[in-house]
Amino acid sequence: MRLPVRVELDKCGIDLDSIRCPICDNDAESVEHMILSCPKVMDVWVRIFRWYNLGNVNTLYSGLNDMFKGKVVPSDPNSPSKIWQAIEWVTGYLIWRYRNLKVFENKDWNAPTMVIEIQAKSFLWISSRTKKVKIEWNQWLLNPSVFDGHG
Ligand SMILES: [Zn+2]
Repeated sequence: MRLPVRVELDKCGIDLDSIRCPICDNDAESVEHMILSCPKVMDVWVRIFRWYNLGNVNTLYSGLNDMFKGKVVPSDPNSPSKIWQAIEWVTGYLIWRYRNLKVFENKDWNAPTMVIEIQAKSFLWISSRTKKVKIEWNQWLLNPSVFDGHG
């Protein structure tokens, strides 16, 4: 996975004031840090996993590790969930977007706000593609995994 994180830009000879993670300011910003070990990024993933009822943090870590290798995290190994996949993509996209807002506009990193945006964007995405079943916003907020297998 190639992201223009600071460590990679530095390797290309681009002169940066700092290669530290712009979100937590605790470590060098590598791709692995952004995806697997930044505590502020993990905070967002933990909230999303909890929302989807995906279990404990070990599940989360192995799931992110799979994603890091380009695999999809199935909530059910026999039938990878389209809904979870959509949420995963929206989450990854918004993490990167908020990282850039922080870098370029100094916008605060706020996990609860990000989670609401992830919930809203994935809801719009899924409900525009799922015609067979009506997805209620309130139910979606409570537990989106109940809509699995209906799309
Ligand atoms: Zn960090």
